[in-house]
Amino acid sequence: MSVVIAGSVALDNVKTPQDEQKNLLGGSASYAALAASVFVKPVHLVGIIGHDFPPQHLEMLNSHGVDISGLERSSGASFTWTGEYHEDMNNRTTHNVAVNVLENWSVNLPAAARRAKIAVAANMHPENQMQMLDQCEAADFIAADTMDLWINIANERLHDVLKGIDLLVINDGEAKEFAGTTNLVEAGRRLRDKGPKFVIVKRGEHGSYLFGDKKEHFFSCSAYPLHSVFDPTGAGDAFAGGFLAGHLRGDPPELALERGIVAAGHAITAWGAAGLLEAWR
Ligand code: AMP
Repeated sequence: MSVVIAGSVALDNVKTPQDEQKNLLGGSASYAALAASVFVKPVHLVGIIGHDFPPQHLEMLNSHGVDISGLERSSGASFTWTGEYHEDMNNRTTHNVAVNVLENWSVNLPAAARRAKIAVAANMHPENQMQMLDQCEAADFIAADTMDLWINIANERLHDVLKGIDLLVINDGEAKEFAGTTNLVEAGRRLRDKGPKFVIVKRGEHGSYLFGDKKEHFFSCSAYPLHSVFDPTGAGDAFAGGFLAGHLRGDPPELALERGIVAAGHAITAWGAAGLLEAWR
């Protein structure tokens, strides 16, 4: 029983009201893979990194059971995200996205990853998500995440992705934008009608909504209660990794959702992906 997760594997430069850190391990796929690897193995991570990617990040992923043999190495510079959180940690500003090695990247799943039972097309260009979907030969459950950028510049391709997946994970603002309504429950239903059996809408510190495979199937869960949030980056990706791992273990959706919530709660308690390592202790 294995999981394949493709998406960005990044260097993050993050500023919060308290501090600032550079060259953190970031990326949608890194967070999701680390979270999933707490619950299941093997987790195949597929992405691309540049010549400047610190080896200690790779060692950390590897030592936590993440298979990094599907990580392409390029002579270019790594994908880098630079962002800042404000006093209210629910608000962040993206200062720079240096696409670099992701610019001309095509997804190429190694043989073992193609046979994975669960596939996660983490946040990346919908074209890359479609390339991944086409190579998943044995997946009986496929999830995808997305963001406002793709909703705006690759809307049509994103609709193709929705037709090929079982679960869409999306945050509340983006769900409303994508579905064209300000009512979150209506947004969840409209997105489910576009293809996926399940839609999870992440609501930050307010928890999440699960829209199930039957019209009336709806579940609301609170977030993990934390009195201090350190670095919220990657919470959504960690959430997806935890949820999918639970699903693979045969958890009903409501319990899998709770695994996602615990993973997200860990992710935000330290810089970069370091918070997730606490889940291993
Ligand atoms: P989240 O906090 O769940 O939105 O995820 C944040 C992670 O997404 C960071 O570690 C970034 O490196 C990564 N990220 C930011 N922008 C993009 C993008 N356009 N494509 C893929 N990954 C991104």
